[in-house]
Amino acid sequence: MPSALGWASPAFDPGEGTQRQLVHAGVSSNEIHWLCVTHFHGDHCLGVPGVVMRIARDRVTHPVKAVYPASGEVFWRRLRHAAAFNDTSVIAEHPVEGEVAHLGPLTARRLSHPVESYGYRLQEPDGRRMLPAKLKAHGISGPEVGELRRTGQVRGITLEECSEHKPGQSAAFIMDTRICDAVFDLRRDELDARRGVGPGPSLHLVKLYLQCLQRCCGRDPAAASRPDTRSWVMT
Ligand SMILES: [Zn+2]
Repeated sequence: MPSALGWASPAFDPGEGTQRQLVHAGVSSNEIHWLCVTHFHGDHCLGVPGVVMRIARDRVTHPVKAVYPASGEVFWRRLRHAAAFNDTSVIAEHPVEGEVAHLGPLTARRLSHPVESYGYRLQEPDGRRMLPAKLKAHGISGPEVGELRRTGQVRGITLEECSEHKPGQSAAFIMDTRICDAVFDLRRDELDARRGVGPGPSLHLVKLYLQCLQRCCGRDPAAASRPDTRSWVMT
């Protein structure tokens, strides 16, 4: 599933048809930086061969971090080399294990599912939002705006004078899990990141997360009554 999280373009749980979905979504393989598999049930991973072959065929040059449960290494190996193709070396494998794992902006938390499964949260680094009125007041326009972003100053005018702090976006992704503490830990991370400021996570991912959680509650009515479940679904 290619996400709309533009700054990282993660592909979460590529199932069958993922290449077709990438075309529909207008997402190029060159935009994918993360390939995250929650668990190795077929509907969550059978698109991995197509994605890795597409990445190789399109001669993607940046690293693509592949994150998946270490316990499913045997499945990953088969999917990673499911057919003959001219492979490249950009896919960097990061199997995760334990209750929680951190990989730069990615947090993985172990969920509750018959097959070992992880939920993921990606956190965009904070940045700066340019303020058009300040830029205009300082007479900065056109290519100078880019220079100001890159170098931090133009003609003695600093980036801080023409911009404001922009908190990074974040998004969490879970699939198939029973209600468990990790779901709420991911959610808490999410709320901490969003608190008070910023545009929040990708709406597409939030919708998926909510649909998943509501399905979980449908299978587990007791979980639906947890106050933290209710706050998640109502948010
Ligand atoms: Zn499953």
